[in-house]
Amino acid sequence: MEQVVVLSVEMHFLGSEDVVHPVVLMDHQSRVLVDCGPVGTLERIEEALRAHQIEPSSITHIILTHQDHDHVGSAAAHKRRYPSVKILCSEEEKPYIEGSKVSLRLEQALSMQDKLPEAQKSFGESFCVLLRSVEPVAVDQVLHMGQHLSFCGGTEVIGTAGHTPGHLSLYLEKFGIIIAGDAIALEAGKPVIANPQFALEQTKAVASLEYLLSLGAQKIICYHGGILDLR
Ligand SMILES: [Zn+2]
Repeated sequence: MEQVVVLSVEMHFLGSEDVVHPVVLMDHQSRVLVDCGPVGTLERIEEALRAHQIEPSSITHIILTHQDHDHVGSAAAHKRRYPSVKILCSEEEKPYIEGSKVSLRLEQALSMQDKLPEAQKSFGESFCVLLRSVEPVAVDQVLHMGQHLSFCGGTEVIGTAGHTPGHLSLYLEKFGIIIAGDAIALEAGKPVIANPQFALEQTKAVASLEYLLSLGAQKIICYHGGILDLR
């Protein structure tokens, strides 16, 4: 039976607390984890999976929506513990996730460091240390925008550039559910662009948000903020 399970995982981020929402797509053949938490959260992800009666070793694929540390941070640890899991992401994000290119977020943070007010410099430095601690992971399969995957009764890969250039979202046609990643965040129940000041391409980020909202989905699952119910 096909099923979509939304996890809630606590994330500690440089002194603040947050909850993020990886998603599991289940069908008779595969169990696909979409995004997998920041560095050091493998145990918390395992706990969240078991709370839904999903054995972590049964995860067959991990789809990474984009290269940011809070989405890919525990992918390498996951793959080490469960070597048969396949890692999937867009072609554009692959070199950053595999570590052959410096992550665009680290590049951005480094370029902003000199311009930060004195009071924020140490936070900026800690953020750079955090970003450098992300372990690269080998990507097994590249996804293309518009590609149809068999997962969960039919899943379309939707290009949602902006937050990062190769950001992808997923549309589960059968369920009318969009998994937005960071293309949409929920703030006080409202769909917004995640951290607009840090969107790598702001105009595209706005267009991606509007595009996802125009698809007529019943629910949008946001990694930051949870479920937006549009029924
Ligand atoms: Zn994020």
